[in-house]
Parts: sequence; C-alpha cells; structure tokens
Amino acid sequence: MFQKKLEWYSPKDPTPRVKCQCCEYISLAESGNYLICPVCFWEDEGMGWELDTPSGANHGLTIREGRANFLKFGACEPEMVKHVVSTEQRKLFEYRPDSNAI
Ligand SMILES: [Zn+2]
Repeated sequence: MFQKKLEWYSPKDPTPRVKCQCCEYISLAESGNYLICPVCFWEDEGMGWELDTPSGANHGLTIREGRANFLKFGACEPEMVKHVVSTEQRKLFEYRPDSNAI
C-alpha cells in the first residue's frame, strides 16, 4: 500500500457499508484501506475513532478538525470541496451519526 499514490486501490465490491470517520456517512466499502470518502474526501486509514489524533493520510488533520471543516465547507478540507459529491448526491448515502462518540 505504500505506492497508493501511483495506483488507486479499489475494492472488488464497491458497495458502501462502512461509516466514514469524518462525516459519518456510510460511504466506504472497506475500512483501513485508504479509500477516499466521496462525501467529505477524508482518506480512511482505519486509525480508529480518536478525535484528536492527527491522521497522516489526511496531512495531519484530526477527525475533529475534519468534521468541523465538513460542517463549514462541505468537505474535510476547504480545498477538497470541488472533489466531493454534490449535496444532492450526498442524500444517496446513509447518514448514521454516533451520538455516543462525542
Ligand atoms: Zn466522509
């Protein structure tokens, strides 16, 4: 997986069934395989749910920061807004916030 920037990994079955740690939409097919969330563009390295642990795959961004950015800009980082699905398409994904997480 160290050459992930050269060749994107894609799961055999792309059906979303794993919750993105950042936006909490069910948007990923698998966890921990550096899949990019189409809803908020968070890169899922399967680091767990520690809100304040910097994520290497996300340029040192923490989940808490990513969430704040998602609420504010609609993506985990302001520069990523152009890459994410539209708010219309976002409705196709199930939103499942974990009320116990924070
Ligand atoms: Zn996401």
